[in-house]
Amino acid sequence: EAEAIRTGKRVILAKPRGYCAGVDRAVQTVEEALKLYGAPIYVRKQIVHNRHVVRTLEGKGAIFVEENEEVPEGATVVFSAHGVAPEVHEQARSRSLKAIDATCPLVTKVHQEAKRFAAEDYDILLIGHEGHEEVIGTAGEAPEHIQLVDGPQDAERVTVRDPNKVVWLSQTTLSVDETLETVARLKKRLPMLQSPPSDDICYATSNRQHVVKQIASDCDVMIVVGSTNSSNSVRLVEVALDAGARAGHLVDFAREIDDAWLEGARTVGLTSGASVPEELVQEALAHLAARGFTDVEEVVTADERLTFSLPQELKRDMRAAA
Ligand code: SF4
Repeated sequence: EAEAIRTGKRVILAKPRGYCAGVDRAVQTVEEALKLYGAPIYVRKQIVHNRHVVRTLEGKGAIFVEENEEVPEGATVVFSAHGVAPEVHEQARSRSLKAIDATCPLVTKVHQEAKRFAAEDYDILLIGHEGHEEVIGTAGEAPEHIQLVDGPQDAERVTVRDPNKVVWLSQTTLSVDETLETVARLKKRLPMLQSPPSDDICYATSNRQHVVKQIASDCDVMIVVGSTNSSNSVRLVEVALDAGARAGHLVDFAREIDDAWLEGARTVGLTSGASVPEELVQEALAHLAARGFTDVEEVVTADERLTFSLPQELKRDMRAAA
């Protein structure tokens, strides 16, 4: 039987994959707000970094904007899962917007750490990708205390006021291994560098990377369903290649899977980023099955049960309306 598997075309499906607790909550927040207050509901930035999710919510009456100024005075605005700087809350107040904050609680945790270390006058080295919304939000908590470290090579150009009073924090969706390398380089220069009180890279990011590492070397090609602006999805392709997958590709939709990628392939790995609905993975499986990859084996390396309750401000209004 083992021989049959080796000669057949197969898919190794990674689990955990897809929606994390923070994304699930953020998407539900917009859906519930639409039900409760009616369309339109404004959403500042993409609620989660996934094209399909954004398009689906647009179809239900959500209007995506880049900044609060685009939201009419007094309207309802939802802040995305990636978090916002305090000034964004202030802007919303000054325009009398009804703000619902869908920031993932695990991002809020990093904001709290930043505030606490800034209050103690630490220099904070925030490891993350320049320009990513989450990093902009976190850095906005204490701009005068935080400097960004974008990858291991950036560690060399860090300067701090007091090498005995410095801590690193990070974006939640980084590569676990690359972050370890960045921290090791920082520690060489700053031996007293403190670590965050708990992991900033979230459970969903590390679990999705972990299973991909387990299966990568068995895969001729790894297909990751996710959008190009989704940090954790992009990382999954990199992790797969680092861990021995012979090729790796990111696709938003099954139809983007190029037949040329499958030529000569026996084993295709399949996973999805934390902002990706399962239906898109099922479409990818159907697409692969139609090309002869009918044997599907799911490899499970963790059981995720975390859920987050909806934002307080929304729950209050839902209770009042009930
Ligand atoms: Fe929260 Fe992690 Fe999901 Fe981001 S990837 S929304 S930090 S659980």
